[in-house]
Amino acid sequence: MKIHSLDVYILDLPIIRPHQLAMHTITAQAIVVGCVRDEDGREGWSEVATIGGASYGESTPEAIKANIDAYITPLIIGEDPIHFDRIMHKVSKQVRGNYFAKTVVEGAIIDLAARSKHVPAFELFGGQIHKSLPIAWTLASGNTNTDIEEAQEMLRTKRHNIFKLKIGKGDPFKNVEHVRAIKQAIGDEARITVDVNQAWDEDTSNYCIAALQDAGVSMVEQPLQTWDFEGMSRLASKFNVPIMADEAATSIQDVFRIAKNRAGNSIALKPCKHGGLTQTKKVAGIAEASGLGLYGGTMIESSLGTAMCAQLYATIPEMKFGTEIFGPLLFKDSITKNAIEFSNFEIVIPDGPGFGMEIDKEKVKHYARPSASGTELRV
Ligand SMILES: [Mg+2]
Repeated sequence: MKIHSLDVYILDLPIIRPHQLAMHTITAQAIVVGCVRDEDGREGWSEVATIGGASYGESTPEAIKANIDAYITPLIIGEDPIHFDRIMHKVSKQVRGNYFAKTVVEGAIIDLAARSKHVPAFELFGGQIHKSLPIAWTLASGNTNTDIEEAQEMLRTKRHNIFKLKIGKGDPFKNVEHVRAIKQAIGDEARITVDVNQAWDEDTSNYCIAALQDAGVSMVEQPLQTWDFEGMSRLASKFNVPIMADEAATSIQDVFRIAKNRAGNSIALKPCKHGGLTQTKKVAGIAEASGLGLYGGTMIESSLGTAMCAQLYATIPEMKFGTEIFGPLLFKDSITKNAIEFSNFEIVIPDGPGFGMEIDKEKVKHYARPSASGTELRV
């Protein structure tokens, strides 16, 4: 079995409500989808998502596609997909960084490799430890009362009892009042965490985290900018509430530095940040060895990308903070024929062949941006 081609598509998928983060408000989410084919036409599919063009990080959807097409695809043609680790090691020698791009490529190869063996992808990563995992919902409507109503509805329908509040946009003191009001309305029925997405400096963090801790918040994610390892280290030693590194926790080397300097005492995993599923397992190993708590993060992938994350997270022994891979619930439409199941406050891990999702090619075609050359997309 040999890889014959790799096609990469950029899709813009509509979502059910605006999703406000510190650096960008999402109204339609850009995802990058990869399809690898072998010489007999068998296919493997993968997805990563990005947030707000270049406002979240350097990997824009356009850059992901351009760098795969120009630099990575030529390196994988003719290779046997079952040797995905060898292939990605070869890619890493020729292509620096580009973690999101590498995740699209590795994911499609793994989906094809697992399908060729008629097994779920998690079988290639040591097998499934968890059948389901706790799932947080992000309250990010930008309005306190709307967020409270949304949280109460989620509790009533037993969909979520962990809520992450996206704060960091606007006045930090108003941010804290917003969190306090939601925590008071929800009470002890649910856990409340916050994500600042790098929006505060250390002084602001010192004041606001003390107030958030007092309000009963159970975790504070990435208050400082990615480069401020020393500041994160001081916050982690100062407060009892766990301080989580997300945007700062990318490569295995960066995660090792975080562990060594205690620049945060927990880590948000995301395959796209780490450069693929194999790298994510290594990050989880570093965290386990150093006692950092783990969280199954999301870049708000649709069903396919969520299945990739879910299958990998299902192979990690302890996810102390649960997961937040709710992406499919935020989208208005899906690029897969089957849906991921969410029930009783948990996500059920898909267990079909590959990542367990059947691609809907008509939907891929419908939402894909036209090719730059104007030629018809091959889907
Ligand atoms: Mg985050």
